[in-house]
Amino acid sequence: MNVDRITEKLNILADAAKYDVSCASSGSKRKNENKGLGNASNGICHSYTEDGRCVSLLKILLTNHCIFDCAYCVSRKSNDIQRAAFTVQEVVDLTINFYRRNYIEGLFLSSGIFKDADYTMERLVRIAKKLRTEHNFNGYIHLKSIPGASDELMNEAGLYADRLSVNLEMPTEAGLKLLAPDKNQADMIKPMGYLKNAIIQRTEEKKLFKKAPIFAPAGQSTQVIIGATPENDSEVLQSANYFYKNFNLKRVYYSGYVPVLADSRLPALNTSVPMVRENRLYQADWLMRFYGFKVNEIVNDSQPHLDLDIDPKLGWAIRNMQAFPVDINKADLQMILRVPGIGLQSAQKIVSARKFAKLNWDQLKKIGVALNRAKYFITCKSNQFERRDLTGSNIKQFILATSQSKYLKNTQVQLNLF
Ligand code: SF4
Repeated sequence: MNVDRITEKLNILADAAKYDVSCASSGSKRKNENKGLGNASNGICHSYTEDGRCVSLLKILLTNHCIFDCAYCVSRKSNDIQRAAFTVQEVVDLTINFYRRNYIEGLFLSSGIFKDADYTMERLVRIAKKLRTEHNFNGYIHLKSIPGASDELMNEAGLYADRLSVNLEMPTEAGLKLLAPDKNQADMIKPMGYLKNAIIQRTEEKKLFKKAPIFAPAGQSTQVIIGATPENDSEVLQSANYFYKNFNLKRVYYSGYVPVLADSRLPALNTSVPMVRENRLYQADWLMRFYGFKVNEIVNDSQPHLDLDIDPKLGWAIRNMQAFPVDINKADLQMILRVPGIGLQSAQKIVSARKFAKLNWDQLKKIGVALNRAKYFITCKSNQFERRDLTGSNIKQFILATSQSKYLKNTQVQLNLF
């Protein structure tokens, strides 16, 4: 192995992969069998797992050569950059070597498109297959699926990868046409549809036959870039909602556009990455998936943008003051989940604890409720902190005045600009 050449490729292709944020994982149950390498059963991502553990993936592109010319992408064919491509065996060797040295716990592999979709996808699949069958590698593997790849290759990919993802790239078809006119959203939807059906079918088979092979046990996800095209938050979240519902996606990742290329269709190079907006979209996404909010309650035609200065749950609460106060000792779980300052776990604990005695402020605090927010929206056993004289906008000002949000400073600067 030519170490210098491999190191050079690694520098180029790891750098090119950094724009893809869709590599967190959850839900994989792959177990280490036959004394193989690795174990993805605890969930792996490139930063933090759900239990707060920091883990790492080898995150690279197979190649940054590409036949397409997507305006937002550093690897686009018209961009004058250094190009490189790994061979299948090089990626396999790197993964195994890095794993053995404890550098990584899995592989996140994406690619520019050589020649055509199948030609590229076949190589990605071959890497996963070699890792699993020749090296008995049980670490986490996330493969990007190349839009337009055949069903046969998607099927093989699902047999060896934990998670598969097809990036939508832009939240709407119009946005995609604007920045990637060679691409077609139908080519992305087709493999997503195949994966959805295959995952359902294989899960059913697995229930009937224990020995049936597992198929993409961590499901499928996608990524959308925000801020490169003019879609508002309502359009972004409506699109995410559609894909969650129709393709059983595990996650939609929102990636704030990083201006790296000068192009009249794109924001100027000195535009800031929309970090706060990205964070608010993740919060809204969380509300849709775990807190029972419908997308139209969070954003709609009259409220097309998420507030940047407050989180979407607080935003909903102060627009819907008629729904409060919520009596913590009587309200159902769904309503408790809508109270700012009460998370999923705290809401569940409240519902369990109040079976034994009515809860007061001290007990709510011990349960983990953020009283500095929740106190404006709830009643409990004592009325010590209750404030019924405040409007939604008063509450917002009070909460902002005491907020420690790491985004607050950033937001204030942004708001001052307008
Ligand atoms: S197809 Fe993918 S790698 Fe190629 S230019 Fe478009 S976004 Fe970049």
